[in-house]
Amino acid sequence: MIRNIIFIFLSIIFLGCQEQSQNKIAIVIHGGAGTMQKENMTPELEQAYLLKLEEAVRVGYDILKDGGSSKEAVEKTIHIMENSPLFNAGHGAVLTSDGTAELDASFMDGETLNAGAVAGITNVKNPISAAIAVMEKSPYVLLSSKGAEEFASDIGLEIVPNSYFITERRQNQLKNIQDKNEVSFYDSYIKESKYGTVGCVALDINGNISAGTSTGGRSNKKWGRLGDVPVIGAGTYADNQCCGISATGWGEFFIRNVVSYDIAALVNYKKLNIKEASRIALNKVKDLGGDGGVIVLDKNGDVSMDFNTAGMYRAYINNEGELTVKIYND
Ligand code: ASP
Repeated sequence: MIRNIIFIFLSIIFLGCQEQSQNKIAIVIHGGAGTMQKENMTPELEQAYLLKLEEAVRVGYDILKDGGSSKEAVEKTIHIMENSPLFNAGHGAVLTSDGTAELDASFMDGETLNAGAVAGITNVKNPISAAIAVMEKSPYVLLSSKGAEEFASDIGLEIVPNSYFITERRQNQLKNIQDKNEVSFYDSYIKESKYGTVGCVALDINGNISAGTSTGGRSNKKWGRLGDVPVIGAGTYADNQCCGISATGWGEFFIRNVVSYDIAALVNYKKLNIKEASRIALNKVKDLGGDGGVIVLDKNGDVSMDFNTAGMYRAYINNEGELTVKIYND
């Protein structure tokens, strides 16, 4: 009897210790910020966004739960959103003034501070994989246009014709902008101005944080315009010592404010929490006349999803395994 009691007692202590040493896992995603308003949304479209966000975040979470790396979780999660026509990334990306798709993506590894990015690519099916490959298989951080495409093809990434990315919705959006000279983020499909870039930040069981972002940039863009997404520190940043960040918004302002690095620096040097840091960084964007949003995940698995637009497609599964999926400012 006494032996049994001692055994149970020791088991409880052992399990308690194990629990404590067990690192937390968590994942957060965005599918773009903008002036999303419920009254402009059909219930079907709203449902489609919610389901796709849930599918994407669950794919990454399952990888983390099985002990997979945050890098793999970010890559596979972003694939789901790149392959969906709902977002401004991969298939369904916004179009240039010539009616073609030019895609940008970036990835950062918070353990090594290694990073990779591609800019202005037109034929790689999943740009986030090209960004990761630049980090892992080239001596560079950022490759652009033809050279990036040649690299991606040489290492065996899936190559598709540019028409794969082009959807009727985006052709209509472009026509609308060109006819009416509208703001270039206006999306006639959902009758709103919005940024549809996708991003993901994940924390794995080994305490490694990875962040990735993928986009078609701005509708009606020309002259090889690049936004914040391929610029490490602007659209994407990750550092295990503090947090990982992915941004969406008016890229020119996010570059000028170095938004993602700004958040990491506020956390690292000023010891702010990620919510305070995100607010300060977004307020600085607003002061210059820009808008958008950021997702941030810190080394403890805490999540922040802040924006200064009406809404942001977003979801996370926290370190308790709880799922949250949201669109509007609620
Ligand atoms: N930040 C992206 C860009 O300016 C746009 C977006 O977030 O949708 O290229």
